Amino acid sequence: MWLDLYLGMAVFLSVECKPLNKGTHNKLLVISFDGFRWDYDQDVDTPHMDKLVEDGVKAKYITPPAITMTSPSHFTTITGRWIEDHGVVHNMMFNSTTHQKVGHKATLKRSEWWDNGALPLWITAQNQVRNCGQCVNRALVEETGQQDDNETEWRQNIDTVLSWFTEEDFDFVTLYYGEPDNVGHAKGPDHPDRKTIIKQIDRTIGYLREAIQRDGLTDNLNVIITSDHGMTTVKKIPLVDEIILSKYLNFFNLVYFELLDYGGFGMITPKKGKEQHVYDALMKAPNLTVYKKEDMPENFHLSKNDRMQPIIVIADLGFNLNSVGRLIVYVNKGDHGFHMDEMDMKTIFRAFGPDFKKSYLSEPFDSVHIYPLMCKLLQIDPAPNNGSLSVTEGMLVQNDTSRELLLENTVVHNKPRRPDVSEKLESAHLEPTIIHTMLKVA
Ligand SMILES: [Zn+2]
Repeated sequence: MWLDLYLGMAVFLSVECKPLNKGTHNKLLVISFDGFRWDYDQDVDTPHMDKLVEDGVKAKYITPPAITMTSPSHFTTITGRWIEDHGVVHNMMFNSTTHQKVGHKATLKRSEWWDNGALPLWITAQNQVRNCGQCVNRALVEETGQQDDNETEWRQNIDTVLSWFTEEDFDFVTLYYGEPDNVGHAKGPDHPDRKTIIKQIDRTIGYLREAIQRDGLTDNLNVIITSDHGMTTVKKIPLVDEIILSKYLNFFNLVYFELLDYGGFGMITPKKGKEQHVYDALMKAPNLTVYKKEDMPENFHLSKNDRMQPIIVIADLGFNLNSVGRLIVYVNKGDHGFHMDEMDMKTIFRAFGPDFKKSYLSEPFDSVHIYPLMCKLLQIDPAPNNGSLSVTEGMLVQNDTSRELLLENTVVHNKPRRPDVSEKLESAHLEPTIIHTMLKVA
Protein backbone atom coordinates (compact mmCIF):
# COMPACT_ATOMS: atom_id res chain seq x y z
CA MET A 1 0.00 0.00 0.00
CA TRP A 2 0.96 3.63 -0.19
CA LEU A 3 2.73 3.56 3.15
CA ASP A 4 5.12 1.05 1.75
CA LEU A 5 6.06 3.42 -1.05
CA TYR A 6 7.95 5.44 1.50
CA LEU A 7 10.45 2.67 2.00
CA GLY A 8 13.06 4.80 0.43
CA MET A 9 15.94 5.04 2.76
CA ALA A 10 19.38 3.62 2.75
CA VAL A 11 20.45 2.33 6.13
CA PHE A 12 23.94 1.35 7.10
CA LEU A 13 24.32 -0.51 10.31
CA SER A 14 27.66 -1.67 11.38
CA VAL A 15 29.73 -2.90 14.22
CA GLU A 16 33.41 -2.61 14.66
CA CYS A 17 34.75 -5.37 16.80
CA LYS A 18 38.44 -5.40 17.53
CA PRO A 19 39.05 -8.17 18.25
CA LEU A 20 36.08 -10.52 18.08
CA ASN A 21 36.41 -13.27 20.60
CA LYS A 22 37.49 -16.15 18.43
CA GLY A 23 40.61 -16.30 16.28
CA THR A 24 40.81 -14.71 12.90
CA HIS A 25 37.83 -14.16 10.69
CA ASN A 26 36.99 -12.29 7.53
CA LYS A 27 34.84 -9.20 7.39
CA LEU A 28 31.19 -9.36 6.30
CA LEU A 29 29.03 -7.06 4.21
CA VAL A 30 25.32 -7.91 3.90
CA ILE A 31 23.36 -6.03 1.25
CA SER A 32 19.57 -6.12 0.90
CA PHE A 33 17.84 -4.90 -2.25
CA ASP A 34 14.25 -4.52 -1.07
CA GLY A 35 11.65 -6.50 -3.00
CA PHE A 36 14.07 -8.33 -5.33
CA ARG A 37 11.96 -11.23 -6.57
CA TRP A 38 13.92 -14.45 -7.06
CA ASP A 39 13.59 -14.41 -10.85
CA TYR A 40 14.11 -10.71 -11.60
CA ASP A 41 17.47 -11.40 -13.21
CA GLN A 42 16.06 -13.95 -15.65
CA ASP A 43 14.51 -11.59 -18.20
CA VAL A 44 17.20 -8.90 -18.08
CA ASP A 45 20.83 -8.88 -19.14
CA THR A 46 22.76 -9.05 -15.84
CA PRO A 47 26.41 -9.83 -16.63
CA HIS A 48 27.69 -9.02 -13.14
CA MET A 49 25.14 -11.18 -11.35
CA ASP A 50 25.87 -13.94 -13.87
CA LYS A 51 29.57 -13.65 -13.06
CA LEU A 52 28.72 -13.98 -9.38
CA VAL A 53 27.24 -17.39 -10.10
CA GLU A 54 30.70 -18.47 -11.35
CA ASP A 55 32.61 -16.70 -8.62
CA GLY A 56 30.41 -17.51 -5.65
CA VAL A 57 27.20 -19.01 -4.33
CA LYS A 58 23.66 -18.72 -5.65
CA ALA A 59 20.55 -20.15 -4.01
CA LYS A 60 17.81 -21.10 -6.47
CA TYR A 61 15.62 -18.89 -4.29
CA ILE A 62 14.92 -18.30 -0.61
CA THR A 63 11.65 -18.15 1.29
CA PRO A 64 10.83 -15.23 3.57
CA PRO A 65 8.91 -15.70 6.83
CA ALA A 66 5.10 -15.84 6.73
CA ILE A 67 4.44 -12.10 6.78
CA THR A 68 6.16 -11.14 3.54
CA MET A 69 6.72 -7.51 4.45
CA THR A 70 9.95 -5.58 4.89
CA SER A 71 10.20 -5.18 8.67
CA PRO A 72 9.07 -8.67 9.73
CA SER A 73 11.26 -10.30 7.09
CA HIS A 74 14.42 -8.27 7.63
CA PHE A 75 14.18 -8.77 11.38
CA THR A 76 14.01 -12.53 10.86
CA THR A 77 17.15 -12.34 8.73
CA ILE A 78 19.12 -10.32 11.24
CA THR A 79 17.94 -12.17 14.38
CA GLY A 80 17.44 -15.70 13.04
CA ARG A 81 14.10 -15.79 14.82
CA TRP A 82 10.63 -16.51 13.49
CA ILE A 83 8.18 -13.63 13.55
CA GLU A 84 6.29 -14.97 16.58
CA ASP A 85 9.56 -14.83 18.52
CA HIS A 86 10.92 -11.47 17.42
CA GLY A 87 7.53 -9.79 17.58
CA VAL A 88 7.78 -7.45 14.58
CA VAL A 89 4.52 -8.65 13.05
CA HIS A 90 3.88 -5.84 10.56
CA ASN A 91 5.52 -2.87 8.87
CA MET A 92 3.18 -0.67 10.88
CA MET A 93 3.38 -0.40 14.62
CA PHE A 94 0.00 -0.69 16.29
CA ASN A 95 -1.75 -1.03 19.60
CA SER A 96 -5.09 -2.82 19.40
CA THR A 97 -6.19 -1.44 22.77
CA THR A 98 -5.54 2.24 22.13
CA HIS A 99 -6.11 1.89 18.34
CA GLN A 100 -2.82 3.69 17.75
CA LYS A 101 -1.20 3.01 14.36
CA VAL A 102 2.27 4.24 13.41
CA GLY A 103 3.54 4.23 9.82
CA HIS A 104 6.52 2.16 8.74
CA LYS A 105 9.03 4.97 8.56
CA ALA A 106 8.18 6.24 12.04
CA THR A 107 8.62 2.74 13.50
CA LEU A 108 12.33 2.94 12.69
CA LYS A 109 12.69 5.40 15.55
CA ARG A 110 10.45 3.54 18.00
CA SER A 111 12.53 1.06 19.96
CA GLU A 112 9.49 -0.38 21.74
CA TRP A 113 8.30 -1.89 18.45
CA TRP A 114 11.57 -3.77 17.91
CA ASP A 115 12.72 -4.51 21.42
CA ASN A 116 11.05 -7.80 22.29
CA GLY A 117 14.11 -9.67 23.46
CA ALA A 118 15.48 -10.88 20.11
CA LEU A 119 18.81 -9.24 19.42
CA PRO A 120 19.97 -8.21 15.97
CA LEU A 121 23.35 -9.64 15.03
CA TRP A 122 25.25 -6.40 15.46
CA ILE A 123 24.24 -6.22 19.12
CA THR A 124 25.18 -9.85 19.76
CA ALA A 125 28.51 -9.25 18.03
CA GLN A 126 29.15 -6.16 20.09
CA ASN A 127 28.30 -7.97 23.32
CA GLN A 128 30.93 -10.60 22.56
CA VAL A 129 33.80 -8.22 22.11
CA ARG A 130 36.24 -8.57 24.98
CA ASN A 131 37.06 -4.92 25.24
CA CYS A 132 33.94 -3.10 24.19
CA GLY A 133 35.56 0.24 24.68
CA GLN A 134 36.76 -0.29 21.13
CA CYS A 135 33.30 -1.09 19.75
CA VAL A 136 31.56 1.18 17.33
CA ASN A 137 27.94 0.68 16.42
CA ARG A 138 27.06 3.22 13.78
CA ALA A 139 23.87 3.82 11.81
CA LEU A 140 23.38 6.17 8.88
CA VAL A 141 19.87 6.74 7.63
CA GLU A 142 18.95 8.94 4.69
CA GLU A 143 16.53 11.79 5.10
CA THR A 144 12.84 11.26 4.41
CA GLY A 145 11.98 11.99 0.82
CA GLN A 146 15.49 11.45 -0.49
CA GLN A 147 15.49 10.03 -4.02
CA ASP A 148 15.94 6.30 -3.89
CA ASP A 149 17.27 5.30 -7.28
CA ASN A 150 20.25 7.62 -7.78
CA GLU A 151 23.00 5.40 -9.15
CA THR A 152 25.76 7.83 -8.23
CA GLU A 153 24.62 7.75 -4.59
CA TRP A 154 24.44 3.98 -4.70
CA ARG A 155 28.13 3.94 -5.63
CA GLN A 156 28.98 6.52 -3.00
CA ASN A 157 27.28 4.30 -0.42
CA ILE A 158 29.56 1.45 -1.46
CA ASP A 159 32.64 3.66 -1.24
CA THR A 160 31.57 4.79 2.25
CA VAL A 161 31.01 1.25 3.47
CA LEU A 162 34.29 -0.04 2.06
CA SER A 163 36.15 2.84 3.68
CA TRP A 164 34.70 1.75 7.03
CA PHE A 165 36.24 -1.67 6.43
CA THR A 166 39.62 -0.40 5.21
CA GLU A 167 40.18 2.79 7.19
CA GLU A 168 38.30 2.02 10.41
CA ASP A 169 38.62 -1.77 10.48
CA PHE A 170 34.91 -2.48 10.82
CA ASP A 171 33.98 -6.17 10.86
CA PHE A 172 30.33 -6.16 9.90
CA VAL A 173 28.18 -3.76 7.89
CA THR A 174 24.65 -4.08 6.51
CA LEU A 175 23.55 -1.94 3.59
CA TYR A 176 19.97 -1.44 2.44
CA TYR A 177 18.64 -0.26 -0.92
CA GLY A 178 14.96 0.64 -1.38
CA GLU A 179 14.87 -0.67 -4.96
CA PRO A 180 13.51 -2.63 -6.76
CA ASP A 181 10.63 -2.50 -4.25
CA ASN A 182 9.64 1.07 -5.14
CA VAL A 183 9.42 0.47 -8.85
CA GLY A 184 7.71 -2.87 -8.27
CA HIS A 185 4.93 -1.14 -6.32
CA ALA A 186 4.61 1.86 -8.60
CA LYS A 187 4.84 0.23 -12.01
CA GLY A 188 4.37 -3.50 -11.37
CA PRO A 189 6.92 -6.31 -11.67
CA ASP A 190 6.45 -6.72 -15.42
CA HIS A 191 6.99 -3.07 -16.33
CA PRO A 192 10.10 -2.14 -18.38
CA ASP A 193 11.16 0.27 -15.59
CA ARG A 194 11.60 -2.70 -13.27
CA LYS A 195 14.00 -4.22 -15.78
CA THR A 196 15.86 -0.91 -15.97
CA ILE A 197 16.36 -0.90 -12.20
CA ILE A 198 17.60 -4.50 -12.25
CA LYS A 199 20.23 -3.43 -14.78
CA GLN A 200 21.19 -0.59 -12.47
CA ILE A 201 21.47 -3.01 -9.55
CA ASP A 202 23.60 -5.28 -11.72
CA ARG A 203 25.94 -2.39 -12.58
CA THR A 204 26.11 -1.53 -8.88
CA ILE A 205 27.14 -5.08 -8.05
CA GLY A 206 29.81 -4.79 -10.76
CA TYR A 207 30.99 -1.55 -9.17
CA LEU A 208 31.07 -3.21 -5.76
CA ARG A 209 33.29 -5.99 -7.05
CA GLU A 210 35.67 -3.50 -8.69
CA ALA A 211 35.78 -1.42 -5.52
CA ILE A 212 36.51 -4.47 -3.36
CA GLN A 213 39.48 -5.21 -5.60
CA ARG A 214 40.55 -1.55 -5.68
CA ASP A 215 40.53 -1.37 -1.89
CA GLY A 216 42.41 -4.62 -1.39
CA LEU A 217 39.51 -6.40 0.31
CA THR A 218 39.21 -9.36 -2.07
CA ASP A 219 40.84 -11.81 0.30
CA ASN A 220 39.22 -10.74 3.56
CA LEU A 221 35.68 -9.56 2.81
CA ASN A 222 32.67 -11.87 2.43
CA VAL A 223 29.54 -10.43 0.84
CA ILE A 224 25.96 -11.67 1.08
CA ILE A 225 23.37 -10.14 -1.26
CA THR A 226 19.77 -10.87 -0.38
CA SER A 227 16.31 -9.34 -0.04
CA ASP A 228 13.18 -9.44 2.08
CA HIS A 229 10.37 -10.60 -0.23
CA GLY A 230 9.24 -10.75 -3.84
CA MET A 231 6.53 -8.85 -5.72
CA THR A 232 3.41 -9.71 -7.69
CA THR A 233 1.08 -7.88 -10.05
CA VAL A 234 -1.98 -6.46 -8.31
CA LYS A 235 -5.24 -7.74 -9.76
CA LYS A 236 -7.64 -4.88 -10.40
CA ILE A 237 -11.16 -4.27 -11.60
CA PRO A 238 -12.56 -4.87 -14.18
CA LEU A 239 -10.42 -8.00 -14.52
CA VAL A 240 -11.30 -9.22 -11.01
CA ASP A 241 -13.74 -8.42 -8.23
CA GLU A 242 -11.67 -6.70 -5.58
CA ILE A 243 -12.13 -7.93 -2.03
CA ILE A 244 -14.28 -5.37 -0.23
CA LEU A 245 -14.62 -6.82 3.26
CA SER A 246 -17.41 -4.46 4.30
CA LYS A 247 -19.67 -6.31 1.86
CA TYR A 248 -19.42 -9.33 4.13
CA LEU A 249 -18.80 -7.85 7.53
CA ASN A 250 -20.51 -5.08 9.48
CA PHE A 251 -17.38 -3.43 10.83
CA PHE A 252 -19.23 -0.95 13.02
CA ASN A 253 -21.12 -3.62 14.95
CA LEU A 254 -18.58 -6.44 15.00
CA VAL A 255 -15.03 -5.13 14.79
CA TYR A 256 -13.04 -3.52 17.60
CA PHE A 257 -9.70 -3.07 15.78
CA GLU A 258 -8.38 -3.86 12.33
CA LEU A 259 -5.16 -3.63 10.41
CA LEU A 260 -6.29 -3.78 6.80
CA ASP A 261 -5.84 -1.79 3.57
CA TYR A 262 -2.16 -2.71 3.49
CA GLY A 263 -1.87 -5.25 0.69
CA GLY A 264 -2.88 -8.87 1.04
CA PHE A 265 -2.34 -9.40 4.77
CA GLY A 266 -4.59 -8.21 7.57
CA MET A 267 -5.59 -8.73 11.18
CA ILE A 268 -8.91 -8.13 12.90
CA THR A 269 -9.91 -7.94 16.55
CA PRO A 270 -13.62 -8.66 16.89
CA LYS A 271 -15.72 -6.98 19.55
CA LYS A 272 -16.16 -9.07 22.68
CA GLY A 273 -18.26 -12.15 22.03
CA LYS A 274 -18.33 -11.57 18.26
CA GLU A 275 -15.33 -13.73 17.34
CA GLN A 276 -17.24 -16.56 15.69
CA HIS A 277 -19.59 -14.12 13.97
CA VAL A 278 -16.67 -12.28 12.37
CA TYR A 279 -14.98 -15.50 11.37
CA ASP A 280 -18.13 -16.91 9.77
CA ALA A 281 -18.81 -13.67 7.89
CA LEU A 282 -15.28 -13.47 6.48
CA MET A 283 -15.39 -17.08 5.38
CA LYS A 284 -17.98 -16.01 2.80
CA ALA A 285 -15.58 -13.56 1.13
CA PRO A 286 -13.99 -14.82 -2.10
CA ASN A 287 -10.25 -15.08 -2.75
CA LEU A 288 -9.51 -14.95 0.94
CA THR A 289 -8.14 -17.35 3.57
CA VAL A 290 -9.32 -16.70 7.11
CA TYR A 291 -7.58 -18.06 10.20
CA LYS A 292 -8.33 -17.96 13.86
CA LYS A 293 -5.03 -17.14 15.51
CA GLU A 294 -4.90 -20.43 17.39
CA ASP A 295 -5.57 -22.41 14.20
CA MET A 296 -2.84 -20.95 12.05
CA PRO A 297 -0.58 -23.49 10.35
CA GLU A 298 2.45 -24.23 12.49
CA ASN A 299 4.89 -23.45 9.67
CA PHE A 300 3.69 -19.83 9.74
CA HIS A 301 5.39 -19.45 13.13
CA LEU A 302 3.02 -16.63 14.06
CA SER A 303 0.40 -17.73 16.53
CA LYS A 304 2.47 -17.58 19.74
CA ASN A 305 2.92 -13.81 19.65
CA ASP A 306 0.62 -11.56 21.65
CA ARG A 307 0.66 -8.92 18.93
CA MET A 308 -1.07 -11.25 16.50
CA GLN A 309 -4.77 -10.42 16.55
CA PRO A 310 -7.51 -13.07 16.92
CA ILE A 311 -8.45 -13.19 13.22
CA ILE A 312 -5.84 -13.23 10.45
CA VAL A 313 -6.79 -12.82 6.79
CA ILE A 314 -4.56 -13.48 3.79
CA ALA A 315 -5.74 -12.68 0.29
CA ASP A 316 -5.04 -14.89 -2.70
CA LEU A 317 -2.03 -13.84 -4.74
CA GLY A 318 -2.48 -10.39 -6.24
CA PHE A 319 -5.70 -9.50 -4.43
CA ASN A 320 -5.78 -6.69 -1.92
CA LEU A 321 -7.84 -6.45 1.21
CA ASN A 322 -10.02 -3.38 1.20
CA SER A 323 -11.88 -2.90 4.40
CA VAL A 324 -14.50 -0.41 5.30
CA GLY A 325 -16.26 2.74 4.25
CA ARG A 326 -13.20 4.91 4.17
CA LEU A 327 -11.80 6.27 0.97
CA ILE A 328 -9.46 3.81 -0.66
CA VAL A 329 -7.07 5.36 -3.12
CA TYR A 330 -5.29 2.30 -4.32
CA VAL A 331 -2.40 3.14 -6.57
CA ASN A 332 0.00 0.21 -6.33
CA LYS A 333 0.42 -1.90 -9.44
CA GLY A 334 2.59 -4.42 -7.62
CA ASP A 335 2.53 -5.67 -4.06
CA HIS A 336 3.72 -8.29 -1.58
CA GLY A 337 2.45 -9.55 1.77
CA PHE A 338 1.01 -12.72 0.26
CA HIS A 339 1.63 -16.34 1.29
CA MET A 340 5.35 -17.06 1.52
CA ASP A 341 4.96 -20.23 -0.54
CA GLU A 342 3.72 -18.31 -3.58
CA MET A 343 6.67 -18.23 -5.98
CA ASP A 344 6.18 -14.49 -6.53
CA MET A 345 7.04 -13.92 -2.84
CA LYS A 346 10.37 -15.78 -3.05
CA THR A 347 13.53 -13.77 -3.10
CA ILE A 348 17.28 -13.94 -3.77
CA PHE A 349 20.43 -15.11 -2.04
CA ARG A 350 23.93 -14.63 -3.49
CA ALA A 351 27.28 -14.71 -1.74
CA PHE A 352 30.95 -14.43 -2.56
CA GLY A 353 34.23 -13.92 -0.83
CA PRO A 354 37.11 -15.93 0.61
CA ASP A 355 34.90 -18.24 2.71
CA PHE A 356 32.43 -19.10 -0.03
CA LYS A 357 32.78 -21.81 -2.67
CA LYS A 358 32.72 -20.86 -6.33
CA SER A 359 30.05 -22.00 -8.81
CA TYR A 360 27.96 -23.38 -5.93
CA LEU A 361 24.22 -23.66 -6.55
CA SER A 362 22.31 -24.03 -3.30
CA GLU A 363 18.89 -25.58 -3.02
CA PRO A 364 16.18 -23.19 -1.78
CA PHE A 365 16.07 -22.46 1.93
CA ASP A 366 14.24 -20.29 4.46
CA SER A 367 15.77 -16.89 5.13
CA VAL A 368 15.83 -17.65 8.88
CA HIS A 369 18.93 -19.78 8.21
CA ILE A 370 21.02 -16.79 7.07
CA TYR A 371 21.61 -15.80 10.69
CA PRO A 372 23.70 -18.81 11.81
CA LEU A 373 25.67 -18.51 8.57
CA MET A 374 26.54 -14.89 9.35
CA CYS A 375 27.55 -15.89 12.89
CA LYS A 376 29.77 -18.63 11.51
CA LEU A 377 31.45 -16.19 9.11
CA LEU A 378 32.10 -13.68 11.91
CA GLN A 379 32.94 -16.42 14.43
CA ILE A 380 30.33 -15.16 16.84
CA ASP A 381 28.44 -17.47 19.17
CA PRO A 382 24.85 -17.17 17.91
CA ALA A 383 22.13 -16.03 20.24
CA PRO A 384 19.35 -18.63 20.50
CA ASN A 385 17.73 -18.76 17.08
CA ASN A 386 15.45 -20.74 14.81
CA GLY A 387 17.95 -21.22 12.01
CA SER A 388 20.33 -24.07 11.33
CA LEU A 389 23.86 -23.81 10.02
CA SER A 390 23.52 -27.27 8.49
CA VAL A 391 21.27 -25.73 5.80
CA THR A 392 23.94 -23.36 4.52
CA GLU A 393 27.35 -24.62 5.61
CA GLY A 394 27.77 -26.61 2.39
CA MET A 395 28.38 -23.31 0.59
CA LEU A 396 31.46 -22.60 2.70
CA VAL A 397 34.98 -23.48 1.64
CA GLN A 398 36.03 -24.67 5.07
CA ASN A 399 33.76 -26.91 7.00
CA ASP A 400 35.92 -27.61 10.01
CA THR A 401 33.46 -29.54 12.12
CA SER A 402 36.20 -30.64 14.51
CA ARG A 403 36.16 -27.13 15.99
CA GLU A 404 32.46 -26.99 16.44
CA LEU A 405 29.78 -28.76 18.29
CA LEU A 406 26.53 -28.45 16.46
CA LEU A 407 23.53 -29.24 18.59
CA GLU A 408 20.54 -29.54 16.35
CA ASN A 409 16.88 -30.13 16.99
CA THR A 410 17.12 -29.05 20.59
CA VAL A 411 13.73 -27.47 20.91
CA VAL A 412 12.81 -25.73 24.11
CA HIS A 413 9.42 -24.07 24.35
CA ASN A 414 8.86 -21.42 26.93
CA LYS A 415 6.20 -18.81 27.03
CA PRO A 416 7.14 -15.91 24.74
CA ARG A 417 8.31 -12.90 26.64
CA ARG A 418 6.07 -9.90 26.63
CA PRO A 419 7.54 -6.73 25.20
CA ASP A 420 8.75 -4.38 27.89
CA VAL A 421 8.96 -0.85 26.61
CA SER A 422 11.15 0.22 29.47
CA GLU A 423 14.05 -1.82 28.15
CA LYS A 424 16.41 -0.43 25.60
CA LEU A 425 17.60 -2.55 22.73
CA GLU A 426 21.21 -2.27 23.79
CA SER A 427 20.54 -3.67 27.23
CA ALA A 428 17.96 -6.30 26.38
CA HIS A 429 18.71 -9.79 27.58
CA LEU A 430 17.42 -12.62 25.53
CA GLU A 431 15.07 -15.06 27.13
CA PRO A 432 14.95 -17.91 24.64
CA THR A 433 11.59 -19.12 23.47
CA ILE A 434 12.92 -21.69 21.05
CA ILE A 435 16.42 -22.99 20.87
CA HIS A 436 16.67 -24.89 17.65
CA THR A 437 20.33 -24.84 16.92
CA MET A 438 23.15 -23.84 19.19
CA LEU A 439 26.61 -23.45 17.82
CA LYS A 440 29.50 -23.51 20.20
CA VAL A 441 33.09 -23.04 19.24
CA ALA A 442 35.39 -25.31 21.16
ZN1 LIG B 1 7.22 -2.97 -0.50
